[in-house]
Amino acid sequence: MKRLLTTTVIGALIAGFAWAAGPAKDAQAAEVKWYGQAAFRIKTPGGKVIVIDPFITKNPKTPADDKDLSKIGNVDLILVTHGHGDHLGDTAELAKMTGAKVGVNADMGHTLRILGMVDGKQLVRFNKSGPINPIGPDITVTMTHAEHSSEIVSKDAAGKEGIYPGGEPAGYVIKLEDGYTIYHTGDSGVFKDMELIQDLYKPDLVLICIGGWFTMDPRHAAYALSKFLKPATAMPMHYGTFPPLKGTPDELKKQLADMGAKTEVVVMQPGDEKTFGK
Ligand SMILES: [Zn+2]
Repeated sequence: MKRLLTTTVIGALIAGFAWAAGPAKDAQAAEVKWYGQAAFRIKTPGGKVIVIDPFITKNPKTPADDKDLSKIGNVDLILVTHGHGDHLGDTAELAKMTGAKVGVNADMGHTLRILGMVDGKQLVRFNKSGPINPIGPDITVTMTHAEHSSEIVSKDAAGKEGIYPGGEPAGYVIKLEDGYTIYHTGDSGVFKDMELIQDLYKPDLVLICIGGWFTMDPRHAAYALSKFLKPATAMPMHYGTFPPLKGTPDELKKQLADMGAKTEVVVMQPGDEKTFGK
């Protein structure tokens, strides 16, 4: 009996250490890889793979090793926030390679199909505020407002550029199997309905643009995080890729400190992969 008790105590201690070390890599956690700009791959706790805004092969910040799209592996769902080239990026190629579903705003979906970029059978056309479960009942994706624009520039067979409707720009809230909730802002300015996003979805992790010029800069992002979104964790994105995108993670941290925010800022480098979880 004594021996059994000792074993039990040691077992409990080991379990305690495992808990203290953070979420186990193989369960109850999301693995998030950043390719630079707004491009991410999320491996969910249940083993699904979601790619957001795959601007990879022409992304000046994506490490050479990661530019080979085949290295992304199996993909279940590609989400595109809006039609600009640094977000739509390699969507057409990646969709062809992987057969993944492609979630976009309903109008952009028509454009992608008519231009022959994405097979209609792979498209998941939806719109803001209607939660969907495109890759199984345990993962919920909700499209949110974003303060931006969304035209698509594409070349025809003769190489002549044309401008096509990209629908409304958007962000995405993704609730994973274990309830962990990630909000990708898309390209956006700060807007007061981010309060609504906090109230309805309570994101644990916010992937937030900070570069400025086309989107929030660090001050606006810090305002959004401290006043409206209040997540435990934020990861800055959409900075440093091109010269106008001057915002830096250090400036975001300084602005958050000045505003008295409690959000932890996790800074990743393009090519990095990190584990997040409750
Ligand atoms: Zn944009």
